Amino acid sequence: MDTGGKPVAMARVELEAVSLYTYSWYRSVFVFAPMLFFRECFVIWRYPVASNEHVNSNGVADTWFRLQLSGGGMISELGVATEKIWGLMDDFPFPPEQFYSGRGLTAGRAKNVIAQMLVFDPSRDKAWFSGIATAIRNPDNNQQLIGIAMAQDQQHEFMHVLAHLLDEYHETDLGPLQSTLDGSSTGYLTNVAPTNTCDALPWKHLVYGGTYNPEVDSLVGAFGANGRFHPESYCLMNGSHDNREFFGGNGQLRVYDRLCNFCRELTAFWIYERLGVLENDVTSWADWIAGYRAPFYDEFPFYAPEKVPQENSDRQPKWFPCAD
Ligand SMILES: [Zn+2]
Repeated sequence: MDTGGKPVAMARVELEAVSLYTYSWYRSVFVFAPMLFFRECFVIWRYPVASNEHVNSNGVADTWFRLQLSGGGMISELGVATEKIWGLMDDFPFPPEQFYSGRGLTAGRAKNVIAQMLVFDPSRDKAWFSGIATAIRNPDNNQQLIGIAMAQDQQHEFMHVLAHLLDEYHETDLGPLQSTLDGSSTGYLTNVAPTNTCDALPWKHLVYGGTYNPEVDSLVGAFGANGRFHPESYCLMNGSHDNREFFGGNGQLRVYDRLCNFCRELTAFWIYERLGVLENDVTSWADWIAGYRAPFYDEFPFYAPEKVPQENSDRQPKWFPCAD
């Protein structure tokens, strides 16, 4: 597949970095399909800095970016970090130049720059803490944002930002997904749908009998409840949270070496968007379907695990078909 020879520039910003962390981070992100295939589309720019204190739960520690914790996880109080990261862009060889207009998950975000922070936990002697994915607004232009992934699991948070993928785990206190693909913008295109009706799913081509899945029953459906449905049981974008209520077992449905079939396709699509291979972000999804989807599935054929339907940790099969 032709990427047009253009890089997706990516700033990686971290605390107390050593080279081992870069290697470990690279290996964790560029291991699953299709990321390994696209690795040369990325410029990874590292910014190691020293802090006077480690981040801790006792308020604002004297770290370079003044990151804060709550309950063992990062919180999105990023005033100092926002100033510093946007300041770094002055020296970055591929500064943010193109920004998504419009609405939805992409609104205002830089196409060609992502930031990621790994946060050192001295009690584990490595990067840790429960992660978040968010965006930081340009202090000099409030129409411009950079997506930022923070802490662990680093590859899961990174894919939130790179490919606008949503969490696939169930949270009982979340209401139905409001946004959906509406045909006038790709800004709402994602891996979670507000409906479980087969024909309305953005991944209907992957449901058994669909164009790219003629053979595998009981793998791709509409998993979830309450207006939030995702395609398969297991995916890097899943997790645990309240999964146990619906899926039984220990509720852990995250895998680290695999995106589900539709998240793989969306990742390739968004990389093409970010590269500018797909130029028009109003028609790009239709353009992808018309001209790029078939070559994508030639390169990355539909994947099925050995056992379907997939099982929870108690070896109980769990299958949520889509509805007619
Ligand atoms: Zn997925």
